[in-house]
Amino acid sequence: MNEIITVLPGDPRVRKLLGPGRGAGASLRWSVFLIRQPTEDGLLLYNALTLELLHVPAALLPALESPRGELRERLRRDWYLVPEGLDQHATVHELRELLRIVDPPKSWIRKYTVFTTTACNARCAYCFERGWEPRTMSPETADRAADYMLAHSGRHPFRIDWFGGEPLVNRGAMDRICDRLRAGGARFESAMTTNGYLFAPETARADRERWNLIRCQITLDGTEPRYNEIKNYVCPGGSAYRRVIANVHALAAAGVEVMLRLNFDLSNAEDIRALARELGREFGDEPLVAAYAVMLYEDRNDPAGGRSGEERARLHALRDEFFCILEAGGLRRPSRLPQALEWHMCMADSGDMITILPEGQIGLCEQYARDGFIGRIDRPGLDETVMEEYRTLHPEIPACADCPLFPGCLPLLKCPNQICYSERRYAQIAHTRRAMLTEWENYLNPEKLDQAAVWRRPL
Ligand code: SF4
Ligand code: SF4
Repeated sequence: MNEIITVLPGDPRVRKLLGPGRGAGASLRWSVFLIRQPTEDGLLLYNALTLELLHVPAALLPALESPRGELRERLRRDWYLVPEGLDQHATVHELRELLRIVDPPKSWIRKYTVFTTTACNARCAYCFERGWEPRTMSPETADRAADYMLAHSGRHPFRIDWFGGEPLVNRGAMDRICDRLRAGGARFESAMTTNGYLFAPETARADRERWNLIRCQITLDGTEPRYNEIKNYVCPGGSAYRRVIANVHALAAAGVEVMLRLNFDLSNAEDIRALARELGREFGDEPLVAAYAVMLYEDRNDPAGGRSGEERARLHALRDEFFCILEAGGLRRPSRLPQALEWHMCMADSGDMITILPEGQIGLCEQYARDGFIGRIDRPGLDETVMEEYRTLHPEIPACADCPLFPGCLPLLKCPNQICYSERRYAQIAHTRRAMLTEWENYLNPEKLDQAAVWRRPL
């Protein structure tokens, strides 16, 4: 292979809206939005603006040092080389505006995060809802929630994310909502964030069918003794850990994808290492079960308050180690590169996703379950002022100036998860590099792609 290969063509909308790169005949420099990853026989070059991925063979690497002629022209045309004075951030802002115009929010709601309750059968010390007064959705509110969905999504496909507390504490609300939706002819599927304890192997298939359940995220905080101690379930009977493991097997057998989330910090690293190995033995042959490791308190902007730079670096190194263990155990889904550049960050600024709280309030972010509402399911209209607050971007920080992640990074001022610090940034870039290698492997071995596609893309 002696020529540059286009591994991924990038986002066609971006290419069309941007047009060819600027500055023919001008003095050029490398775009700051590039990420490079060496391979065995060359270099992967990823453009985080256009989402194009190239492979440059080793023979052409010297020419890349100081590109000339046809190579220089190609790199300029495709936004790898940009004019010296170009304000690249301004280009991204303009592009986002255009993307929003050509691909606006849907005219219907495409995702509802439903809090069936804020109560939970577990009592994890780290839970951000700890100490909240439990609120549970009544049957009447469940009916109104279903009617709201029917009115605001009609016959369009949509998704429900069951959230809590522990959503299964109020499975009656889930049954009621889904039965009413089905009677109304709705096209929906659902996913759930749960501790998994309140499933039962004998009813997993019926649950999947009644709720159109395609995916569950289940948190495991440790090996059996530690898990049972941390979860401290309200109604223990035997080993809670063994019960959840049996439920994961049953859900996967029923066709539900299960993503296991391993919460860790410096205090439980050894136990999580053992758990990651154990889960590989337990679920390594199960294609519908995967796992990932998450640093505790990384969301809610807390790490800077309590952790030194050295501690953060150790945590990121641990996360990489856990990912390797999970990968070796057959539990990592391969990282993939995005196929489309988004003009919005998440549900909070999407314009077509909402939360529904147990008492019928409407919100925009699952982390805001007690305030920050924009309306109610039993009243017309939404509060545009609060919606605008959610859409407001966090001001750029000095590190944004030459950060390759900028085109895909839209931290919201109101987001409790928007903190940016160097270790986290490097981890995100490392994640992108892994994804670049995955895409290259898929290009070389297309049959691998089918395996990676076992998991469904949600609605
Ligand atoms: S907020 Fe952080 S990750 Fe995002 S563009 Fe700025 S430096 Fe990069
Ligand atoms: S604002 Fe932050 S926490 Fe809320 S939905 Fe968006 S990314 Fe998640």
